[in-house]
Amino acid sequence: MPRKCSRCGSEDAEVNLPYARLSLCRDCFLEYYVGRIKRTVEKYRMFHEDETVGVAVSGGKDSAALLHGLRRAFPNQKIVALHVNLGIPEYSDRCQEEAERLADLVGVDIHILDLKREENVSLSDFRRTVFKKKICSVCGTIKRHSFEEIARRAGVKVLATGHNMDDMLSFMLNSFFTKQWTQLIRLKPVLPPLFSWMTRKVKPLIRTSGRENLLYCLYAGVPFTEIECPYSRGAKAKEKLKILETLSMNNPNFKYQALDAFLEISKILEEKIRLQEATPCVKCGFPSLNGVCAYCKRMAYVKEALSNG
Ligand SMILES: [Zn+2]
Ligand SMILES: [Zn+2]
Repeated sequence: MPRKCSRCGSEDAEVNLPYARLSLCRDCFLEYYVGRIKRTVEKYRMFHEDETVGVAVSGGKDSAALLHGLRRAFPNQKIVALHVNLGIPEYSDRCQEEAERLADLVGVDIHILDLKREENVSLSDFRRTVFKKKICSVCGTIKRHSFEEIARRAGVKVLATGHNMDDMLSFMLNSFFTKQWTQLIRLKPVLPPLFSWMTRKVKPLIRTSGRENLLYCLYAGVPFTEIECPYSRGAKAKEKLKILETLSMNNPNFKYQALDAFLEISKILEEKIRLQEATPCVKCGFPSLNGVCAYCKRMAYVKEALSNG
């Protein structure tokens, strides 16, 4: 006899959540998942009911689950989808298609920034430069800048991203062991804007695993693309996650404990460390540490490299 759902008691349980001591049927899992998004948003006071929330959607499972789940958790909130097309051949257009399909299904507007159209440069162009081995880091810089830019154009002051608990723990572990304290401090559920015209960045899935985002998409019929970015070096990140899985084996609560421990350390560090003051980039006005921001530096570099053939 299959086990019955611990919530409704009538349907067969399909999802086992050992950390919560729950085995849930599909419908009860969907409800539980949406409830956690609502609780997380409220716990960290991510946004008010009169704010428009911009959700960064990539086309992948995490941000797809976020947009769909947020809509259900806050049916009356004004929400828009934001998407950046990075111009990676055969990949970026698929991602955009899924993002558009998703926005359509959820019933929200989507704002798209097309990097190629905007800058006449695509992420792929960086592969022919010294950034070839740091393509994921360049991509991060471009995405941060571009999402902020679309949010500004769309008049959005809250930017929600689909970073899940596993992503966060792996970033946290990495910043901790490489002593990148500033980076660790920035990994928090709510990151206030550096300049007043910028967005507050919030992470409603910080307490949700990647696996649960996938299940949510599958059970709720949320469209997403499974193709991986051709440039991603997923193997390295997965190696780090393996440590977390091992530590979770005998303690299903381990990830939550680790997350809370890191968030506490980060708070203590924030009081101790004086962050270097950012000044507006002379070219674009975004935050920079020495006149020109990382985005403008990389763009100037790649354009120069392209023009030299
Ligand atoms: Zn149930
Ligand atoms: Zn700049």
